[in-house]
Amino acid sequence: MQSAIQSKSQRNILVIEDSPMVLKILERLFRNEPDFQPVFCASLAEAQVMLETSAGLFFAAIVDLNLPDAPNGEIVDLVLGFALPCIVLTGSYNEERRDQLLLKGVVDYVLKESQYAYEYAFRLLHRLESNSAVKILVAEDSEAARNYIRHILTPHRYQIIDAVDGEDALRTLKSQPDIDLFLVDHRMPGICGFDLVKMLRQKMKRHELIIIGLSADAKGSLSAKFIKHGADDFLRKPFCPEELNCRVISSLERRDMVRALRQAAQFDALTGLNNRRAFYEQANQLLHRAQENADNLSTVMIDLDHFKRINDECGHASGDAALVAFSRAFSDAFPEALLGRLGGEEFAMISPQDAPTLSASLDRLRKQCQSTQYAAGAPPLSFSAGIHYGEPGDLETLLHQADRSLYEAKKQGRGCNYWV
Ligand code: GH3
Ligand code: MG
Ligand code: MG
Ligand code: MG
Repeated sequence: MQSAIQSKSQRNILVIEDSPMVLKILERLFRNEPDFQPVFCASLAEAQVMLETSAGLFFAAIVDLNLPDAPNGEIVDLVLGFALPCIVLTGSYNEERRDQLLLKGVVDYVLKESQYAYEYAFRLLHRLESNSAVKILVAEDSEAARNYIRHILTPHRYQIIDAVDGEDALRTLKSQPDIDLFLVDHRMPGICGFDLVKMLRQKMKRHELIIIGLSADAKGSLSAKFIKHGADDFLRKPFCPEELNCRVISSLERRDMVRALRQAAQFDALTGLNNRRAFYEQANQLLHRAQENADNLSTVMIDLDHFKRINDECGHASGDAALVAFSRAFSDAFPEALLGRLGGEEFAMISPQDAPTLSASLDRLRKQCQSTQYAAGAPPLSFSAGIHYGEPGDLETLLHQADRSLYEAKKQGRGCNYWV
């Protein structure tokens, strides 16, 4: 029995498998998964001892259905008895066996036939990690159907909330806006599923709420209607557990991918600040609103001083650390303003505050930056700022005016603010 139980940062995965070949594959895959630490057992007897002494230290189990001392899947009952999420490895496909296993409450089963199948097992482990933060609302008027869905989804560690009809679902979505996925039956008393989709899609985009329609309706056109009006997917009842699981997982993965793309498109990867494009987009909206309300505002351009020296003398990594340290302090100092990294060591801000007020805040930020240790042996962090306060106008013009002030600040010796 190999014992490598980790207590905190990594998740311990109990792997119960006797085949040397499969173990070799799994060992190799685990080496690329720093978040997961495998603990291997080769028989039911070994696993029993391990679980009786340390079940609480495991995050999940991957189990072989066919072990020398447990040839008929007895290992599954053992693992589920300890309430551990259980992913089954099996050498042969059998529909009846599969349904039995899923209804028993295993997370999923994986056929030991290709590299991809093993990778799927790891995808499941990663999903289990994130699923505890995923909220699923199930709107179904049939209690039996609600219970069936709950029974299928529970092993995946989602937070599951029930609604008994459309009104109930709308109330819940309003009081819990962080719901990720809405499973909605079509035929319900009151508002039907299809109308709910139409209503919800007017307010919530796909990356904000995933919607999967359900219906026993035999008409094929209903699924198309749902999807055309904004549902992400549709399942015809009766469905098998696996079908529901796969649809839910693929919808969540798609949503996560869209969120990651949106994140990458909006934020600068190094500093996490708005990138140039996102800054311009939001600044134009702010200016438009300020024009409507006849509010004045400040446009600020900031440039780090002698930044090239940090790179040249201490290395590019130190330069990056300086950018990160400055950005963090900058965000903390101006939580209400619109900030962005326009490129290199150049930053911009739009704020409703006037020039003297902003200048005082920038001086405080400057003092803080001077004493910030961002890299060993690197010079203190210094920046110059140009402020333009006045009527909102064309963004390019405002930035140009702030840039001219920045140029003056540089000319006056750097490490200061300038405004007219
Ligand atoms: P000044 O005080 O006049 O502003 O001088 P400076 O050295 O700060 O300005 P200069 O424009 O000469 O140099 C900016 C440098 O910033 C050059 C470029 O290589 C570096 N730089 C731009 N983007 C990054 C980045 O993402 N990481 C690092 N480490 N350096 C960057
Ligand atoms: Mg075996
Ligand atoms: Mg500079
Ligand atoms: Mg520059």
